[in-house]
Amino acid sequence: MKTKALELFSGGLDSILAFKVIEEQGIGVLGITFETPFFSAAKARMTAERIGLPLVVLDITSEHLQMLRAPRYGFGRNMNPCIDCHTLMLRIAGQRMEEQGFDFVFTGEVLGERPMSQGKQSLYVVAKNSGYSDRILRPLSARLLPETEPERSGKVDRGRLCDIQGRGRKRQMEMAVHYGITSYPPPAGGCLLTDPIFARRLRDLFNRHPEYRFRDIELLKVGRHFRLTETTKAVVGRNASDNGTIERLAEACDALIRVEHFPGPTVLVPGGGDEKTRRLAAGLCVRYSDAPRDHEASVLCLREGIMAPFKVPAVTPEDAERLLI
Ligand code: SF4
Repeated sequence: MKTKALELFSGGLDSILAFKVIEEQGIGVLGITFETPFFSAAKARMTAERIGLPLVVLDITSEHLQMLRAPRYGFGRNMNPCIDCHTLMLRIAGQRMEEQGFDFVFTGEVLGERPMSQGKQSLYVVAKNSGYSDRILRPLSARLLPETEPERSGKVDRGRLCDIQGRGRKRQMEMAVHYGITSYPPPAGGCLLTDPIFARRLRDLFNRHPEYRFRDIELLKVGRHFRLTETTKAVVGRNASDNGTIERLAEACDALIRVEHFPGPTVLVPGGGDEKTRRLAAGLCVRYSDAPRDHEASVLCLREGIMAPFKVPAVTPEDAERLLI
């Protein structure tokens, strides 16, 4: 029976090369990729289609959020728990492998390419903690790593695997020429958990609103965020696109605030807040609008289907800076 393998496929050059190396041994390959509110499968989808790799896309939001609350190996520079995230992905791929009769899982990881997550120790820890270490192959660096079951059993010819390591991309470029790969997406990028501003907002959400919902995470992607009180925040649109997204994500219990008669942002107070916090949010709305600053501006506040008008002065730039998350 033909050997079948599942590739953890990101859509970057390394994952394309890993696919080529395994495919040319006559092994059937199915790609698997993941999406959450923090990263999408768009790059993997686009590349897989171009190179003719069948691809399964799994939404792992709930498992990922659960892991994100307390990652065993902690965070990278921002809110990126890369070791635990890779472990989770390999565990899920390993479960698929077993359920669907694949022989092994492989990835495009290169030993030492990313010092934190692709050092020898990290590759070992991730594979071990996934529960499938003996059936996880890294074809681009395999000859520098311990032999795995598919190599020992002859399903894969170890002699035709690679021994790439380090951050230089020369070998990968040569392989791309060899396989006739002329275009591929840029490496890395695309994970919001590595973005310092997003990370600050997410940390604030986890700390202050442990009962958060999916909508609250989507809100973190737009506008400026201000902490008004321990339990209340405001989201201020920066442009028409932000304003549209904020309005789409608003719920009846929220307060939605706009300045009357002048262009300006849409401001959302999730959960509505109290009278005092709504006035503060309205002051932020005036601050980022075109309304004159020398007197109070008229604002409209929509909540529970009721539109309430009131007048407030703009929040000062210093206060806005102090409240910014
Ligand atoms: S960068 Fe993001 S998607 Fe990639 S391993 Fe780290 S946390 Fe996971």
